Amino acid sequence: SRVAEVSINDCIDQTLVIAHNAIKHRLEIIKRYGENLPAVRCSPSQINQVLLNLITNAGQAVGEDGGKLLLKTEADADWLRIHIQDNGRGIAAEHLAKIFDPFFTTKPVGQGTGLGLSISQQIVQAHGGTIHVVSELQRGTKFVISLPLRAASE
Ligand code: ADP
Ligand code: MG
Repeated sequence: SRVAEVSINDCIDQTLVIAHNAIKHRLEIIKRYGENLPAVRCSPSQINQVLLNLITNAGQAVGEDGGKLLLKTEADADWLRIHIQDNGRGIAAEHLAKIFDPFFTTKPVGQGTGLGLSISQQIVQAHGGTIHVVSELQRGTKFVISLPLRAASE
């Protein structure tokens, strides 16, 4: 799909508009966007898809009350990083190694395909980036997406 020079902060805001129906009333959104971040060369529709997957998961991980979603962006010379952190139920240690596997889901039949993280990882890796997770049961989960600011050959 189309590749462009993209403002990741704008990209996140676009995703939040789309995600609103899925997460409204469930998540208090806290934005800590870096200022004057460099543009990222990426497919905005694909990065929107990744963000929507992660934000939807966060909305499903929190309870009816008190759910928070922290969206943070930052950059160094080589990488743009997006932190997506919730205070939801967390991921069991024995599940952590499997969450990026296609069809791995802990959700009831009909609520999860188990494909969201697998597709998200494929998209991020196709952009030359990485996606990492840190999670603690009952405390929450943080995903960090790193996208390269220049091509490996440059
Ligand atoms: P699905 O959402 O369809 O289950 P995903 O690939 O998006 O599939 O996620 C796989 C599994 O990873 C989920 O079923 C859940 O167990 C776990 N998971 C992903 N994100 C979170 C999160 N933010 N908090 C808790 N568990 C999560
Ligand atoms: Mg999902």
